[in-house]
Amino acid sequence: MQVTEHFDVIIIGAGASGLYAASQLTRVKLGVLVLEAQNRIGGRMYTNLPQGFSAPIEGGAEFVHGDAPITLDLLKNANAQYVEMQGNTYQAHNDEIEKKDFFDSDWHVMMTKLKDLQYDMPFSQFLSTYFGDPEHETLRMNVTKFVEGYNAADITKVSAMALREEWSEEEDPAQYRIKGGYAKLYNYLAEQVKQNGGVIKLNQKVSDIRWSINDVEIAVGLNTYRSKKCLITIPVSLLRLPSIGFVPEISSITDAASRIGFGGVVKMNLEFSRPFWETEPERKFKNLQFLFTDEKIPTWWSQVPDKRPLLTGWIGGPGAQRLKQSDEELLESGIQSLANAMKYPAQKIKQHLVAWKVDQWVNNEFSSGAYSYEMVGTPEAVKVLQQSVNDTLFFAGEAIYDGPHKGTVEAALTSGADAAKRIAAL
Ligand SMILES: Cc1cc2nc3c(=O)[nH]c(=O)nc-3n(C[C@H](O)[C@H](O)[C@H](O)COP(=O)(O)OP(=O)(O)OC[C@H]3O[C@@H](n4cnc5c(N)ncnc54)[C@H](O)[C@@H]3O)c2cc1C
Repeated sequence: MQVTEHFDVIIIGAGASGLYAASQLTRVKLGVLVLEAQNRIGGRMYTNLPQGFSAPIEGGAEFVHGDAPITLDLLKNANAQYVEMQGNTYQAHNDEIEKKDFFDSDWHVMMTKLKDLQYDMPFSQFLSTYFGDPEHETLRMNVTKFVEGYNAADITKVSAMALREEWSEEEDPAQYRIKGGYAKLYNYLAEQVKQNGGVIKLNQKVSDIRWSINDVEIAVGLNTYRSKKCLITIPVSLLRLPSIGFVPEISSITDAASRIGFGGVVKMNLEFSRPFWETEPERKFKNLQFLFTDEKIPTWWSQVPDKRPLLTGWIGGPGAQRLKQSDEELLESGIQSLANAMKYPAQKIKQHLVAWKVDQWVNNEFSSGAYSYEMVGTPEAVKVLQQSVNDTLFFAGEAIYDGPHKGTVEAALTSGADAAKRIAAL
């Protein structure tokens, strides 16, 4: 039997932005329904405990940036503890291993040129214009790896001016990990929503939104939901497909979403019987925090100061997009990458392996990638998505944000809070 339920606001997506917006809107006594396509909340925050692991792992977001005010405030309210990251950063290149940070003195030369840039261009164009000579090959290689790994961005698309802004920040704040993972934050938010009378429904994949001014209708299976306002928090990668159809259509939204970059990531968590990398390989990695390599899975980190023998492998950007391998094949590549970088037989690494999990965000049906990055023209597109459509349809999410925490949970929370404020003011 067809059932119609009525709400003040329907929120699509139970990730950071959707849940935080729901918590704000229910606080001011609006009737809120959150529709989530998956069988879990959290979205790209994904704390999970696959078989064989001794404790939960983070399949998605993991680090908390020390100057992220909303995130830190929520963790405090949720009584969640967080631990500052420590340890040594190693670089394993060809036959060398160095205990140092990513960049050398050329970095400062490049920053000076970036600061002089008068108009925006894709970062690859900046590099080839100013550092295209053979002398700067190492700089080009290192900086490309960094942008692909950290920003998950394609250097032929990412905005040079956006990178300049990001890299010009005075100091790198401390980074933290949450004890018990990001689940502490999203479970807390979901509790708040429910305590305030909001409803969160899982397994509700929205494919169409029928709307007119102050009237939204969404049908999922046998249920029809109606509301005055709708906040859409699905990733922009899905918005631009578009994976949700609007009736009537709104082409400006799809256009704007297409002007925001979105990168892929493959992340793998490997738990071992002991931290063999400290003592056993030819190359030893004492108190390893980060390991940067030239291997297929280039970036690795441990859990220090936590003693848990877990290594996390990471590849971001176009490299992740190109992989197209099964989880098992990626595990093999991961182990071989560690073996090459550590000069330690892959067979022995396998003997220490207790549990593994690969998360291929590039292929994830509900995000189609990992997180956004700025292209030339993205700021204007973000402004379009920050506007409502006839005070009825609103958009939020990590990509619809113009502050210093782009691509992060903090960006998603900020964007959700902004949208909630605008809805509550109507
Ligand atoms: C591998 C990885 C590592 C990361 N590391 C960090 C980190 O260390 N620190 C950090 O701060 N950030 C990190 N991030 C980024 C961070 O996770 C995201 O920026 C943030 O979680 C995005 O939140 P959101 O609410 O905007 O989107 P999402 O979390 O994507 O929420 C959107 C929700 O919409 C749902 N949805 C999609 N389509 C539909 C539909 N049709 N109907 C109903 N629901 C739908 C999705 O299932 C999802 O739950 C990482 C992300 C990834 C993928």
